Amino acid sequence: MKKILLITGASAGIGAVTARLASRAGYCVCINYLQNHAAATTIAADIQKDGGGAYIFQADVSNETQVKTMFETIDREVGAVTALVNNAGIIEPQQKLSQMSAARLHKVFATNVIGSFLCVREAVNRMSTKMGGIGGSIVNVSSMAAKYGAPFEYIDYAATKGAIDTMTLGLAKEVAEENIRVNAVRPGIIYTDIHAKAGEPGRIERVKEFTPMKRGGQPEEVAHAILWLLSDEASYITGTLLDVSGGR
Ligand code: NAP
Repeated sequence: MKKILLITGASAGIGAVTARLASRAGYCVCINYLQNHAAATTIAADIQKDGGGAYIFQADVSNETQVKTMFETIDREVGAVTALVNNAGIIEPQQKLSQMSAARLHKVFATNVIGSFLCVREAVNRMSTKMGGIGGSIVNVSSMAAKYGAPFEYIDYAATKGAIDTMTLGLAKEVAEENIRVNAVRPGIIYTDIHAKAGEPGRIERVKEFTPMKRGGQPEEVAHAILWLLSDEASYITGTLLDVSGGR
């Protein structure tokens, strides 16, 4: 049986590394991206060169029509997804909540929360044994920000990750009898370009002293946790939030 994995936001950072490692674990990988077509193409080409299966799909996860079209295209060109990593996420520049515009809040919640809900909805409708599917596994990429709140930086972003945690807990119970497991990883500070996008490229060097391990994490360290939760090795685990954060 072909294992078909969709990773949202897989043209960079944690998603890109997860795509590469997932291929080695035997998944046929569907790489979703928003803007960086060149990066997505390179990752897919590298996977194919190594003998793996990889496809790229441009879609804005916050756009319902684009999400539906992406899943329908995957159905036709690859097959029904059996695994989903809800990874696409954005942070806006650091700001106190008292300065945040409604436009910013709509954008961050639309991508991080609505986007994840839409992708989960489409995946569940294909995986559910009650709807003709064979089951599946979903991993949501949350953040330790959900626990700490990200004061003076991005409480909006932290709140979106709180919503993802809650969705993980609820959905896991809702679909447990449909042979679908739903878990989340909560990364701490991970070396990707997201910190530069939030206006502080050197953020990890500033805050790493607050982690017991005194260092930032590598995307591979998150990817391994994601792939383990996706796999049959985690077959009795659902509704779990796994912190990947150096002990903090
Ligand atoms: P990143 O390097 O900035 O990559 C973000 C990815 O998301 C890119 O592939 C981007 O695509 C894609 N994306 C953004 N908006 C999208 C949209 N509307 N539709 C589809 N794709 C979209 O980020 P990262 O650090 O790897 O973060 C990945 C996830 O981990 C996020 O959910 C983030 O919140 C979470 N996380 C990260 C850290 C950390 O320290 N890095 C910590 C905790 C949690 P394009 O580049 O093609 O536009």
